[in-house]
Amino acid sequence: MPFSSLGLRAELSRAVSEKGYSIPTPIQKEAIPLILQGRDIMGGAQTGTGKTAGFTLPLLQRLMATGKGKADKGRRHVRALVLTPTRELAAQVADSVLTYGKHLPLRSTVVYGGVSINPQKQKLIKGVDILVATPGRLLDLVGQRSVDLSRVEILVLDEADRMLDMGFIRDIRRVLALLPGHKQTLLFSATFSKEIKQLSHELLKSPAMIEVAQRNTTAERVTQVIHPVDQHRKRELLSYLIGSNNWQRVLVFTRTKHGANRLSEQLNKDGITADAIHGNKSQGARTRALSQFKSGSIHVLVATDIAARGLDIDQLPHVVNFELPNVAEDYVHRIGRTGRAGNAGEAMSLVCVDELDLLKDIERLIKREIPKDVIEGFEPDPAIRAKPLGKTRNKGRGNQQQTAAKSSGKKKTAKSNSQRPPFKGENNDQGRSRKRSSQSRSGQKGSSQQRSHNSSRKAA
Ligand code: AMP
Repeated sequence: MPFSSLGLRAELSRAVSEKGYSIPTPIQKEAIPLILQGRDIMGGAQTGTGKTAGFTLPLLQRLMATGKGKADKGRRHVRALVLTPTRELAAQVADSVLTYGKHLPLRSTVVYGGVSINPQKQKLIKGVDILVATPGRLLDLVGQRSVDLSRVEILVLDEADRMLDMGFIRDIRRVLALLPGHKQTLLFSATFSKEIKQLSHELLKSPAMIEVAQRNTTAERVTQVIHPVDQHRKRELLSYLIGSNNWQRVLVFTRTKHGANRLSEQLNKDGITADAIHGNKSQGARTRALSQFKSGSIHVLVATDIAARGLDIDQLPHVVNFELPNVAEDYVHRIGRTGRAGNAGEAMSLVCVDELDLLKDIERLIKREIPKDVIEGFEPDPAIRAKPLGKTRNKGRGNQQQTAAKSSGKKKTAKSNSQRPPFKGENNDQGRSRKRSSQSRSGQKGSSQQRSHNSSRKAA
């Protein structure tokens, strides 16, 4: 089915073909006609499915259709508001708005925290049709009377599950109170918790449900694997995997900001160019690290969950979970960074004995066992017993540790961990040692088509 059959106006079709897309992705096929009809949408979409174009294209078209007479003495009002959980995702959505809307006379801007508020105010004063924002900075701007949301016609909540995980629900409710009752609302979420369902009941009017991938399942094109390894040998194994396989672009997840910094320093000492990206870094430093990673001048980007959400990096074949996430849903988001837009991807997790409960939560969520593959020379020491994982200090909004405990429905205690023998789940097929050579590794790739790969976590 070509893009032209979706009923998009010529300027949008042109922008899409200039971007190089010829066929709409499944979510675009479903969402675009419904949004053009004015329907509210509840979209269950994995990252990498093309959902941004799925809502941006029809949003632009609807603004063009309703645009006449809206300018008040030449001043534009915000008519479409897109809320995102992170600065990176906001910047990315704003880029998409510019790309797809480049042949249309609509103005847009993006606002997020961590950078000076004044340039954002200046842009808003000039007037925009489309505003992409993170909730906190948007409320700051509302507080300073720099933005009026009373004429919003279309609201998009992108990665709504993440916004709730990050504790933005009160901010979101404050923003909602500033919007007109009559509007079109589009809610996208990779996962559907009770809280998301409740929010959608409150917000959406007879929504069309769109689901392009099964809920809480991992992206199909991503193969996943667990490499069991002792915690103190994870860094060594990571350097070995990167070096022996000559990986050029690897996104690595740690659980803490400190852990991200430390790992990136250690990798640099090992001769592997790396940088860290997390919430304590300035926006400038984050943008710089990301662009160096995209251009290939650094090979490894070490990120925390929050910093990595929303990153859109073309050609990202490898994601490594150096530590498993506290929240099982984050595993799905992490590995969704690879295998995007039809490309294949590998997600591997370095898992130590302390993390077996987290692994169990993840496997329960994705409803499959992730193959285990012990790398020869890095076999876990069976004498090492599980220790309790360190508590995450979460100074930001929300508390992921609590969410993790809630989502697993039980407390992770030292007792429950240490009672478990190390890597009980390994079987002969999946748990056998692998030769320490890149040759044997690449030889295995062909046969690992159906294997799934995954991620790991380790206390910093
Ligand atoms: P998203 O899920 O919106 O983050 O998009 C994931 C990636 O898919 C981005 O790199 C988009 O540029 C790309 N993409 C979106 N729509 C299409 C399409 N119809 N054909 C090919 N690539 C696309």
